[in-house]
Amino acid sequence: MPPAASNSLAAAPHVAVIGGGFCGLAAAYELGRRGIRATVLEADGSLGGLAGSFDTEAGRLEKFYHHWFVSDVHVMALVDELGHAGRVALRPSRTGMYYAGNFFNLSTPVDLLRFAPLPIWSRLRLGMFALWARRVRNWQRLDDRAAADWLRQMVGHRAYEVMWAPLLQGKFGDLAEAVSAAWFWNKIKLRGGSRQRSGAEQLAYYRGGFAELTDAVAAAVRAQGGHVRLNAEVTGLRVGEGRVTEVLMDDATLPVDGVIATPALPIVADLLAAVAPAGYVRALRRVRYLANACVVLELDRSLSEIYWLNVNDPAFPFVGVVEHTNLEPASGYAGRHIVYLSRYMPESDAFYAMEDGAAVAYALSHLRRMFPTLTDDNVLAAHIWRARYAQPVAVKGYRRLVPPTATPLSNLLLASMAQIHPGDRGTNYAVEQGRDAARRLAKQLTCPDAARMDAWRGWPDSAG
Ligand SMILES: Cc1cc2nc3c(=O)[nH]c(=O)nc-3n(C[C@H](O)[C@H](O)[C@H](O)COP(=O)(O)OP(=O)(O)OC[C@H]3O[C@@H](n4cnc5c(N)ncnc54)[C@H](O)[C@@H]3O)c2cc1C
Repeated sequence: MPPAASNSLAAAPHVAVIGGGFCGLAAAYELGRRGIRATVLEADGSLGGLAGSFDTEAGRLEKFYHHWFVSDVHVMALVDELGHAGRVALRPSRTGMYYAGNFFNLSTPVDLLRFAPLPIWSRLRLGMFALWARRVRNWQRLDDRAAADWLRQMVGHRAYEVMWAPLLQGKFGDLAEAVSAAWFWNKIKLRGGSRQRSGAEQLAYYRGGFAELTDAVAAAVRAQGGHVRLNAEVTGLRVGEGRVTEVLMDDATLPVDGVIATPALPIVADLLAAVAPAGYVRALRRVRYLANACVVLELDRSLSEIYWLNVNDPAFPFVGVVEHTNLEPASGYAGRHIVYLSRYMPESDAFYAMEDGAAVAYALSHLRRMFPTLTDDNVLAAHIWRARYAQPVAVKGYRRLVPPTATPLSNLLLASMAQIHPGDRGTNYAVEQGRDAARRLAKQLTCPDAARMDAWRGWPDSAG
């Protein structure tokens, strides 16, 4: 099933991009810009990966809540190139915290100064810390420290226990004490960078939903002469002389000049198990992932004015309540109010395997403790989405676990979200990473000297 060669690209090198999330689509688009034929192979029946969407009576919703920070320049640049800059809505967003049965606004520095659960000197110390953290440059030193230790030292035990311990424990469970300080520092920096001079946060969203953006990128890829295939799970690779020659699917084989692999590392490791050095494949498997389940509610009422509510209450089984329609107005969703309840967990967690109806009922029973006036009648529809590889866990020293883009197979490049560090996964970085890998592969395919310079140089701990 070779791709139908299109006009001027008929004789151009052909690259298979495994995965039709933001990274894979951006990679294919960049390849097309450079005169390389790209075929995106997506296992799922729709595009978008973790930023994928589904249809409801309220319109298309993301399976997992999504927004952009104002500093997300790579995805904004892509939107701009597609001529869609007018679709990006930048809006003030309210952040809050649920702690000890109360709601606290934490949208501005003044809100922090008013945060009663902590003594005033502790609030001041937190504010100073947030400002200082934005100036840190040498993140490598932080990477060898645990976030929990670093934060206790920087803001004191009490502030850490109230502000961050519940979030780290809620998200990472047993791994909470092992999370890298560099990863946490970057989170603080990112959120700080999305604040205006007044200190209020602004976030961005793509009007009409992220699915419209992935559709637009896919359309651009096709217009360049590329292909985008759904329900096309890659099951293996055929290799000759250290290069991938064919990409295998259950019902087809695709001859290729190069490959960009964007799925989670354990999936890539499975694909490479029979064709790459065992040590390399083993090293790919060192990164641990958390799964995520999001309960998505369509309500006939708003819960609060807060967009992003951190739940600092260990008895509540979700780490965040995100009222999407406090960022993107409910008028765009047939007047329905869209709320996400997010839970990270190991794949073995009972909630991950819970039957959909039971999981939604469980979520609602807890949400009612928080919002006692919420009734069943307010719930117009409820959905649940799960992702096995939702969050790579950046443990202490994570930079040493991050595989390079080059791989032992000279024409296969790796662009997986676990390689983003100290930044956390996000569509912005996925676009940056996909385009970067595409530039490198295009250079390799069109300029042999560049290929030699960009060759595989090994990776610590992965030999043999
Ligand atoms: C709960 C949650 C909230 C998030 N919130 C935000 C947010 O607010 N803002 C933001 O920017 N980002 C957010 N993200 C992160 C963002 O969704 C991801 O970083 C981004 O979508 C990653 O894109 P990707 O293309 O690298 O990977 P993925 O989206 O994982 O794409 C990989 C693709 O590969 C496909 N695939 C896997 N195996 C195969 C195979 N064998 N053959 C073919 N295809 C295969 C998968 O189906 C998938 O579509 C969030 C993620 C989660 C889980």
